Amino acid sequence: MEQFVVSAIKYRPLSFASVVGQSTIGATLKNAIQRGHLSHAYLFCGPRGVGKTTCARIFAKTINCLNPGSDMESCGECESCRSFSEGRSYCIHELDAASNNSVDDIRTLVEQVRVPPQIGKYSVYIIDEVHMLSSAAFNAFLKTLEEPPSYAIFILATTEKHKIIPTILSRCQIYDFNRITVNDIVSHLKDIAQKEGVTCEPDALNIIARKADGAMRDALSIFDRVVSFCGNNVKYSAVIDDLNVLDYEYYFRLTDAIRTHNYVEAYMIFDEILKKGFDAQHFVSGLNSHFRDILMCKDVRTLSLLEVGEVIAERYRQQAAECPVDFMLEAMNITNKCETEYKSSGNPRLLIELTLLNLSYIGTEKKNSPPEYGEQPAVKPGIKTESAAVQKKTEPEPAPIPEAPKSAISLKDMLKPKTETETKPETETKTEDGLAETVEEKAFTEEKLVQEWKAYAETIKARQPRLSSRLLEYSPKLVSEKLVHYPIISEQHRELMEKHTMDLIRHLKDTLNSSITVEWVVREVSSEEVKTRLYTQKDKIDYITSANGAIDKIIKDLELDYR
Ligand SMILES: [Zn+2]
Repeated sequence: MEQFVVSAIKYRPLSFASVVGQSTIGATLKNAIQRGHLSHAYLFCGPRGVGKTTCARIFAKTINCLNPGSDMESCGECESCRSFSEGRSYCIHELDAASNNSVDDIRTLVEQVRVPPQIGKYSVYIIDEVHMLSSAAFNAFLKTLEEPPSYAIFILATTEKHKIIPTILSRCQIYDFNRITVNDIVSHLKDIAQKEGVTCEPDALNIIARKADGAMRDALSIFDRVVSFCGNNVKYSAVIDDLNVLDYEYYFRLTDAIRTHNYVEAYMIFDEILKKGFDAQHFVSGLNSHFRDILMCKDVRTLSLLEVGEVIAERYRQQAAECPVDFMLEAMNITNKCETEYKSSGNPRLLIELTLLNLSYIGTEKKNSPPEYGEQPAVKPGIKTESAAVQKKTEPEPAPIPEAPKSAISLKDMLKPKTETETKPETETKTEDGLAETVEEKAFTEEKLVQEWKAYAETIKARQPRLSSRLLEYSPKLVSEKLVHYPIISEQHRELMEKHTMDLIRHLKDTLNSSITVEWVVREVSSEEVKTRLYTQKDKIDYITSANGAIDKIIKDLELDYR
């Protein structure tokens, strides 16, 4: 059976020209190479998955190429280029500061810097996640960065530029990598799909690109996942199911309901969304983005800022034609307010329902509102009602409003928290945002947990091999509904795990349950195991010398200090 290679690795760019979305940086670096204006230290900043390490590698390969093309791309054929592509080049050294952040690690690196390159002109040292270096490690590194040998070039990469100390910043040429646009990601995915013989609906690729949030690596791993889920025919409907993305269709319908002052319909759509297990807060911000996207369609000049697939773009244009700009402005003001108040709200569901009501009354007059609305609704203290926003609309000349459908639901019923009217049996536990019954209670099995856990560990394999193997070492245990235990070996590991697994936790929250927590539990280590686990540098040396006495002699003779 043919081995599956993840797309992020299979289609890793080999030239500046093939790096998606970073053409300016590529051009600047090529220019520097051409003119021989190389700096000794570069700092590549930007969000994860946008090509920082890839560009660093291409840069290292290109400056060492013996026969670069006139476009300043590496030839791919000379001895240096071949050693790069076969992974046996000694001109490039990579250090993941996330897992090697001690002074010892940096000292080892500094030792390496003393050795000039064998083939090629430059030795390139790529330090990934450089903000993770301990301050002692930073200081140990500073001296080398200040006076590097002529052949050494450092490329520091970070997602968090603000954590880099000024003394380092001032010694580096800084490049800011941008998020990759949805359109760029889509066209790259299209390319890959074609090469892989996968047919995709354009809107499906668009959803993947949006979900990836500017990171090509994420886009590719989502793409792989979707293909393994959907097979060789990737459809929009299957993708939104698999990725748990709210269909645009809901927002279109909701906007129609709001525009026609049909708040009952709006409530029913919102309820449908909650019942599908979507998070209420995501819903609000999604609605806000939807309004924003409609607004972008109001003028041809802003049309390019709409980052959706063709079919959906057409829907946006249609809806935009029906919504005047002042309506959009007010709608966005109302949803924005809801977003800001959401966190502090004692009853978020009520807040959202009031927001929908407010939205439904845009462009109408208060005195024409249904009579119930004139009364102060009996809301619990602590909940900010939206009545202020409603009272604002006191301009004269009332416009008649279409009558809301006379459904059996009265406003007061609706203002009651859902729990009182439609309590489901499993809604006993309430989370602090009060939406427990519909959103948070997405149960998941240990099997699903293990599956998502492993999927995550696999996706970071190339980038963070150590962390990945650590995560794959055991199976996470689901000890209660949302509490996960994972064994670790020592207290020091706990700190490391807590630091480096934010993305993992986020992934679990996204895919399983938003209130999931992971506890790192120090497990018992048998004395037998202690022998086989070599932690410190000294442990390692002791182990080696015990296996071969000659090494011990060498160490003594040369007075090596291995600490
Ligand atoms: Zn070459």
